[in-house]
Amino acid sequence: MSACTENSEKIADLKDNPFMEESTLPYYAPDFTKIKNEHFKPAFLEGMRQQTEAINLIASNTEEPTFENTVLAIEKSNELLGRVSRVFSALTGANTNDELQEVQSFLAPLLSAQNDAIYLNDALFQRIKTLHEKKSELNLDAESLKLLENYYENFEIAGANLSEPDKEKLKELNARLATLSTTFNKTLLDANNAGAVIITDKSELAGLSESQISSMKSKDEDSWKISLLNTTQQPLLQSLENRETREKLFKAAWYRADGSAHDTEAIITEIAELRAQKGKLLGFSNFAEWSLQKTMAKNPATVMDLFSGLVAAGTKKAQEESDAIQKMVEEKGENFKVEPWDWNYYSEMVRKAKFDLDEDQIKPYFELTSVLENGVFYAAEKLYGITFKKRTDIPTYHEDVVVYELFEENGEPLGLFYGDFFARESKRGGAWMSSFVSQSRLYDKKPVIYNVCNYPKPANGEPALLTFDEVGTTFHEFGHALHGFFADQMYPSLSGTSVARDFVEFPSQFNENWALYPEILKNYAKHYETGEQIPQELINKIKNAGTFNQGYSITENLAASNLDMQWHTISPDLKIDDANKFEKEALNKTKLDVVHAVPPRYRSTYFAHIFGSGYAAGYYSYLWTEMLNHDAYNWFENNGGLTRANGQRFREMILSRGNTLDYESMYKAWRGSDPKIEPMLKARGLN
Ligand SMILES: [Zn+2]
Repeated sequence: MSACTENSEKIADLKDNPFMEESTLPYYAPDFTKIKNEHFKPAFLEGMRQQTEAINLIASNTEEPTFENTVLAIEKSNELLGRVSRVFSALTGANTNDELQEVQSFLAPLLSAQNDAIYLNDALFQRIKTLHEKKSELNLDAESLKLLENYYENFEIAGANLSEPDKEKLKELNARLATLSTTFNKTLLDANNAGAVIITDKSELAGLSESQISSMKSKDEDSWKISLLNTTQQPLLQSLENRETREKLFKAAWYRADGSAHDTEAIITEIAELRAQKGKLLGFSNFAEWSLQKTMAKNPATVMDLFSGLVAAGTKKAQEESDAIQKMVEEKGENFKVEPWDWNYYSEMVRKAKFDLDEDQIKPYFELTSVLENGVFYAAEKLYGITFKKRTDIPTYHEDVVVYELFEENGEPLGLFYGDFFARESKRGGAWMSSFVSQSRLYDKKPVIYNVCNYPKPANGEPALLTFDEVGTTFHEFGHALHGFFADQMYPSLSGTSVARDFVEFPSQFNENWALYPEILKNYAKHYETGEQIPQELINKIKNAGTFNQGYSITENLAASNLDMQWHTISPDLKIDDANKFEKEALNKTKLDVVHAVPPRYRSTYFAHIFGSGYAAGYYSYLWTEMLNHDAYNWFENNGGLTRANGQRFREMILSRGNTLDYESMYKAWRGSDPKIEPMLKARGLN
């Protein structure tokens, strides 16, 4: 009886569930007038059920494997699951609530098990392997061949090619590594909380504003709490006048997970050792060799080459900056050697003396809608010929979200863009791009893409005025969007931004260049009250400030990136008995410890990117794509800059290609040579 009721409830659930059918809105845009919290869980469960059923059918098929009955069938197996996942991840990121968070925790282990069940399904892998072995006889077009190779490699990377006993070993390693990462994150969270600095004498907070101080005040006691952020340097170090408070805060951050009650040393050494063993089990000499296979850099040696091209120039500049700070210390009548906790405080004085850039002076020229429509969209129109029309009839998940429709130069529809720009409680921090519908010719779908940012929301009726950093973010995120809009793939899993980690930030960083391009700037940077264009003097200040403190910034980044590579290139037989000693030696042998007052952006013991989430052996990606960005922009500068022809060529050869070509050869074909490091050094003022 109860089972029967449950069943009919389930059927009713799914019958009214908006995810069960394609949306009837333009571009299959999600219909937020129908989607409710309670729809997600049943749609996910049904989506997983459908996928499992499809995968089992493929794996147990008695017919000879063909591209259609195997590769294409896998590609099509997650239609419902993909549809509900995309909307779910958009909402849990940008507009979450308790109910959605509960569903999220409920689903996480199920989805990871679903993934394992596919990638460790031997019958399924054997069919792909058979096809892969005779791939040249299959008469596949280039993209279909790439799809086959991509699946084969993903299975191989997941360990499908191992013997049964080795597969068991791999599962054990993966399980232990997952547990260790969870423990690391939990310990680090505790370390961050316990590391907060408690101040009982208000005078120690001199230099902070009254509102900063009152936000730190504890409710019942006469004390103030400075919470720790993830990085080594803490934002308040820029303003705290009391040198002892600065030292206390810096050391709290530096030692939070080293020698404290929440020490992570044993966890990270075990993670590094087990990862090395995993690399070996999968046939590589270390973890990074295995993990970098499908990236643009391809192997750790190429990454180390990039580092060594930057270290000398970066640390030389950092030393000059350190000297300037030392001079400032002495000019202030102080007598001490500059330490890491002094850097931001005195460099802020150097910055004011040298650049005198006041954000309040420039913000009136950067009103959000003008930045978006007359800057970001205008640049895309000039380069790629596309046009934009505001749509007020498309339902959104929040009243702040704006929607535009994009058109090709010949008027053909191109896709939908959602902009969700303002911070709110239900949104996580940062800025990102993703899609509700990804482009694919297989399903005859055009992209529906969104950008999410966290700009402060102005009071009712007031304009949203951006800092120049935020202007850069708006261009950046739309660069990702363009990569998605120009995608021209048959298969969704190869489409648009589904590319390697060390390539995905290239189109977005590249798009930032147009923010300061004279013709674009002239079109959008106008005073929101008077309409007056931003004065040249302010533009110069913005440009000059771009090279400020770059020695510090690149050295701290290189130090962290290098630690990541060192931890992930250890030999599988190495036993590390002292994580701190390992860290010291790693920095020493790469000469990243030569400027005393420049510590790594993250120390190993609190480097959550690499020990707590998915960036192991991947932190270098930020520097790598920065190199690509400046090298690419250098090509534009040498070839006429912002022209329709240049844009078209970049669109055809890079932005429209998704994950269908080898990144290195694709870049080289467009650029005419391999990427060089010099334009990046120049842009950072390090040459
Ligand atoms: Zn990005």
